[in-house]
Amino acid sequence: MSTSPAHAPMDQFAHAEGELLIGGLPLSRLAARIGRTPFYACDRALISRRIKDLRALLPPQVKLHYALKANPMPALASHLAPLVDGVDIASGGELKLALDAGIAPRNISFAGPGKTEAELFQSVAAGILIHVESAREVHLLAQAARTLRLPARVAVRVNPDFELKSAGMKMGGGPKPFGVDAAQVPAILAEISAAALAFEGFHFFPGSQNLSSAAIIDAQQKSFALARKLAACAPGSAPIQSINLGGGFGIPYFPGEQRLDCAPIAANLATLVAQATQVFPHAELVIELGRYLVGEAGIYVCRVLDRKISHDQIFLVTDGGLHQHLPASGNFGQVLRKNYPVAIGKRMHEPPTETVTLVGPLCTPLDVLAQRIQLPHAETGDLVVIFQSGAYGATASPQAFLGHPPVTEVLV
Ligand SMILES: *Cc1c(COP(=O)(O)O)cnc(C)c1O
Repeated sequence: MSTSPAHAPMDQFAHAEGELLIGGLPLSRLAARIGRTPFYACDRALISRRIKDLRALLPPQVKLHYALKANPMPALASHLAPLVDGVDIASGGELKLALDAGIAPRNISFAGPGKTEAELFQSVAAGILIHVESAREVHLLAQAARTLRLPARVAVRVNPDFELKSAGMKMGGGPKPFGVDAAQVPAILAEISAAALAFEGFHFFPGSQNLSSAAIIDAQQKSFALARKLAACAPGSAPIQSINLGGGFGIPYFPGEQRLDCAPIAANLATLVAQATQVFPHAELVIELGRYLVGEAGIYVCRVLDRKISHDQIFLVTDGGLHQHLPASGNFGQVLRKNYPVAIGKRMHEPPTETVTLVGPLCTPLDVLAQRIQLPHAETGDLVVIFQSGAYGATASPQAFLGHPPVTEVLV
């Protein structure tokens, strides 16, 4: 027996007669309904349940935002709109998506290191909160406010002077293009005050894909403490209304990883809420989650086109590949390539019988979806499932590469 660590069980999905069910449908029936492979499918009931479970832990005062870039499928955005308190966007395109999905402008916030002049004007016209990341943005927003005769609602995105420990992707601490260094925040606040922008608070986002509740708690405590310190330099006129503590909640992708325990994070947030009522009586605490809300509810499904042996190794060649699922190929921020959890759609009950490498149709050795994994026997025509694919899938992949058609996405 191998002692290598296993993937966390993908027990969010049921199966019947050996076949995976999604949205209550056997996978092969869903594939027949869609009429083509590959496709992404997201289970709306799983997303609703994830949010319900998280809300049951979180203090009611904490606002839960969805980071749209994790999965901007319009049907999904519309499904999430009534379930979350707001949406975080990262471009003018996502602004349109969020507004189309029915999110109130008051509850939309915009972060990103390279906002264009057009995007900043659009944001002021829409009435959303802009997470300011440079002096240039302050000046453009002042122009937008004057031209449009509207308030420019801003919070300062802080590049904190600490890192999020154990994060899969660090986005704060040290030299970063994101946000304003903590040391430069007083100067930016002075500019915001001089430009008469509507200052509302602070935004922190130290990193992503973290499975350690202790590290997330540490970052949230340090962010809150930094907000208290920086608030001393805030424009005196308006009270602080919003402190966005970021997110970074991860999901288990790779062997040996376990699901994040949110209970201690929620307990820590309750402590911070109690402190906030003392020091920031008008502020709401916000967390913004992307993959944690949607990642586990989605699968990527492709079909085996060919089964080949090369030098004693079995290759399953599928119609899906890195052009549609870049993260599973390991080319979206992994240093050492690791396998996502994979299954053969109609053999959910069967133990693995062979070691195979799952590749896509592209003429590049990078097009590997899973390397030397143990699976039950699969033949040409079988459906292969890649789990944990509800976030950073279609829109995080170079779909036009090699001229393949775009992937289908459904919400079931
Ligand atoms: C990408 C991003 C998120 C979402 O990250 P996840 O890892 O999907 O939760 C949230 N906030 C900001 C500012 C981001 O850039």
